[in-house]
Amino acid sequence: MAVTVYNTLTRKKEPLDPIEPGKVGIYTCGPTVYNFIHIGNARPFVVFDVVRRYLQYRGYEVTYVQNVTDVDDKIINKANEEGVAASEIAERYTNYYFEDSDALGVLRADHQPKATELIPEMVEYIEVLLEKGYAYEIDGDVFYDISKFGEYGQLSHQKTEELMEGVRIDVDPRLHHPLDFALWKAAKPGEPSWDSPWGKGRPGWHIECSVMSSKYLGDDFDIHCGGHDLVFPHHENEIAQSRAATGKGFARVWLHNGYINIGGTKMSKSLGNVTLVREILKDNKPETIRHFLLSAHYRKPIDYNETSLAESESALQRVYTALGKAERHAGLLEKRPGEPGSEQVSLDELREKLTGDFEKAMDDDFNAPKAIAAIFDTVRNLNKILDGPDAWKCTADDLRSVTNEIRRLGAVLGLFQQGAAGADSALTDKLLDLFISLRAEARARKDYALSDSIRDRLAELGISLEDTPDGTFWREIELP
Ligand SMILES: [Zn+2]
Repeated sequence: MAVTVYNTLTRKKEPLDPIEPGKVGIYTCGPTVYNFIHIGNARPFVVFDVVRRYLQYRGYEVTYVQNVTDVDDKIINKANEEGVAASEIAERYTNYYFEDSDALGVLRADHQPKATELIPEMVEYIEVLLEKGYAYEIDGDVFYDISKFGEYGQLSHQKTEELMEGVRIDVDPRLHHPLDFALWKAAKPGEPSWDSPWGKGRPGWHIECSVMSSKYLGDDFDIHCGGHDLVFPHHENEIAQSRAATGKGFARVWLHNGYINIGGTKMSKSLGNVTLVREILKDNKPETIRHFLLSAHYRKPIDYNETSLAESESALQRVYTALGKAERHAGLLEKRPGEPGSEQVSLDELREKLTGDFEKAMDDDFNAPKAIAAIFDTVRNLNKILDGPDAWKCTADDLRSVTNEIRRLGAVLGLFQQGAAGADSALTDKLLDLFISLRAEARARKDYALSDSIRDRLAELGISLEDTPDGTFWREIELP
């Protein structure tokens, strides 16, 4: 069964067919470092991290590239507001970006180039576009001429006239076409700038991604990711630049994630309704945020509110509680192997169903919520076994094979990797052995009021004592 992906370019779900068998190159648009990241910014970082991890799980050798936009109007504006150098703003928020994305468990990219590290390559790329007649220079600015590129609008599935409806009104009158965009921007006083054949200036935003993806993945590569809001103009412009400059196809598959809404409205800095990741981290575990971000299919919108985080938190707790209970019960099973004469209950089917359902969900365009649901089904069934008469009929190895599988698959999502919930198991063991011997002593004294009280009060805490010819054993049960 192959991995299928929904490709924005073809608007179809198609089998992933890498250019080089067994290897996948992924480029994803990184942060523009002028502020802390908000939960909406975090979504692509987390969901495409899962895409990467799943393809690795499926045996692909993945090369993952993400840029850092460290020169941009927004960075320059912020630097002017604070009266510091643009490079200082960029460095500060690059560090904060990594702190936040590391906290969310986003693995570092194999290549994480900063725009300012590849200026000579960008200049060369722009020269090629000028030579080939796809660009024109005016007073030190260089623009891409979209009317020369017949396929413009292919990714958005819109004609240029339709795309123009969304364009700002104050278009630069020097442009040949209102949708033409800057490849190189002439330096204004006080702005960071680099030398070029067109005078001092800096690259436009779009050219960064064309140059970096080519440099690390080649002119034809497998997957390009980003937020849905980047389809036009950013990704449309990347395609125009790259295909024109290289004559190659550029990215084969385009994956775009949906927005985060707050009360049904898109979260965006311009609307002022953003919630920063580091604000949420003050009151929530990183894993809770990660679970929330994966709780809807990556292409669908997802609503952020207090309840959604609380739901994620309790969902995680359910899994950790079950893992803890199962792992502790495995320890008990080793002390008290299956009941004599009782038929053994195999957990193979449970484990195999989990793996099968998980892979089926993830193979289908990385359906993480469905994959998480497969884990919850397993947890539900595991609880049923642990709470029921079959608890002593399974083996410790079998139980551990299920919990290990939950953790192995959880790692693909970056979830369920913490220690299991519940008290330290060695201490729990010792304390319960103490209660069991105190109860035995009470019974020996015929103090049945005390021995029954110990048993009943442990039951109230979810611990069942069972007297057998081999002695008294405890196990965790569902709270009454
Ligand atoms: Zn980009």
